[in-house]
Amino acid sequence: MTSNHDLFVRACARLPGGVNSPVRAFRAVGGEPFFTRRADGPYLWDVEGNRYIDYVGSWGPMIVGHNHPHVREAVERAVKDGLSFGTPCEAEVTMAETIARLVPSVEMVRMVNSGTEATMSAIRLARGATGRSRIVKFEGCYHGHGDAFLVKAGSGALTLGTPTSPGVPAALADLTLTLPYNDFEAATRLLDEVGGDVAGLIVEPVAGNMNCIPPREGYLQHLRALCTQHGALLIFDEVMTGFRVALGGAQAHYGVTPDLTTFGKIIGGGMPVGAYGGRRDLMQQIAPAGPIYQAGTLSGNPVAMAAGLAMLELVQAPGFHDELARRTRLLCDGLQAWADGAGVPFTTTRVGAMFGLFFTAEKIETYAQATACDVPMFNRFFNAMLERGVFLAPSAFEAGFLSSAHTEDVIAATLDAAREAFAEAKAV
Ligand code: PMP
Repeated sequence: MTSNHDLFVRACARLPGGVNSPVRAFRAVGGEPFFTRRADGPYLWDVEGNRYIDYVGSWGPMIVGHNHPHVREAVERAVKDGLSFGTPCEAEVTMAETIARLVPSVEMVRMVNSGTEATMSAIRLARGATGRSRIVKFEGCYHGHGDAFLVKAGSGALTLGTPTSPGVPAALADLTLTLPYNDFEAATRLLDEVGGDVAGLIVEPVAGNMNCIPPREGYLQHLRALCTQHGALLIFDEVMTGFRVALGGAQAHYGVTPDLTTFGKIIGGGMPVGAYGGRRDLMQQIAPAGPIYQAGTLSGNPVAMAAGLAMLELVQAPGFHDELARRTRLLCDGLQAWADGAGVPFTTTRVGAMFGLFFTAEKIETYAQATACDVPMFNRFFNAMLERGVFLAPSAFEAGFLSSAHTEDVIAATLDAAREAFAEAKAV
C-alpha cells in the first residue's frame, strides 16, 4: 500500500514543497499532508484508508458534500459529448442566465477558470472603465495570486509569512493601497485623499482568508457610499461567499450592491471555474463587445459548466441555506461549550455555512486581532482533531466550510473529537 509519507517524499522531489498550492502542505500546522484517494459526502479517505470528517470542502466548492450523485451524473453526461469545444455551447448561456437570476447585480458575466483569473480580470475592467490605475484592498484579504493582490494578502501568503511576494514589481505593488478591514475612518480618510485615482476597491464581503471575520454592521454600506462618492468601482470578491452565505451571496445577505462581483468555487461544482460580472455598461466594455481584453481557451468549458449548473440547482432547494446556517451554529456552539469546559480561551465567528475558530477570548473584528490569536494552540488543536479523524483547514488563518452532508450525527462526532482535542491542545 502506498503511504502518505512515501507519496510526500515523491511529491517533494518534483513539486515545489510537495504540493500544487501552498497551504495544502501543512507547513503552518507542522507535519506532512495526507493524500486523498477518495471523497464522499462529508468524508475524505487518504491512501492509507484513514477517514476524515472534512471541514475544508475543497476550500469551499463542496457545499453539498463530496461526490454528490446529482453533480457527478451531470458531469458524466457532459463528458460523453466531449471535453472541450472551442466554440460557444448552451451550458455557458444557461450558466450566465442562472448567475444573473440568483445575483441580480450581475447583469452580464464572463466565465474564467479560477478565482484568481476572475479578480485579475475584474481589476483590469475597473482600470479600463475608469481610466484610473490605483486599486484598494484590505490587509489580510486574499484575492488570488495576481500581482496586484499579493500586497498584505491573506490565506497561504499570510500563513507563510510572506504577504508581499518576491516577483511582484514594486511599480505594480505601489498601485495597490491597503486598508485595515472593518475600519470605517481609515477608509474614509484614504478615499478622501486619493479617491480620484482609485479604479476599484476590492473586498471579501466576509473575510475568509485571515480566518473568518464578518463585516461590522454598516461597513459594507460605508464602502458602497465611499466608492459612489469618489467614482471608484466597488468589487465584491464572492469567491468564497458566493452561493454560500446566502443563495445571492454576501451582497444579498447584507443588502449591498457592488458594481462588479467575482466568483469561484461553488459555481464550478468542484471543477476549475471562476467568473466575474456586474453592471451591463461595464461588462459591455469587455472584448469582443468592447476594447478591454480578456480571454480563455477553456473558459466556459462544457464539463465544468455542467458541474457548476448541477451544484447551483442543488443550492436552490427551499431552506437549503437556512438549514446549513443552523448546523453551522450547532457546530460552533458545541465547540465553544467544550472549549469553555476545558478552560481554553476560544471564540467563533460564522456567517451562513462559513465559520472561523479563534484561540482567544476576544470578539474578533479585525486583522490585527486575528493575527494576535494563539496560533500554536490552534496548531495543536488542528493536529489533535486530525488524529481523531477531523480535518480542519490546516492554518489558523483560513475559514471553515460546512456542507449539507454534515448531518447532526457528523457534527456530534466532530464535537466528541473536539472535547478531547481541546484538553490535549491546552495540556502542553
Ligand atoms: N478570492 C478569494 C476570496 C479566495 O478565497 C480565493 C481562493 N481561496 C481566490 C480569490 C482565488 O481563487 P483561486 O484559488 O481559484 O484562484
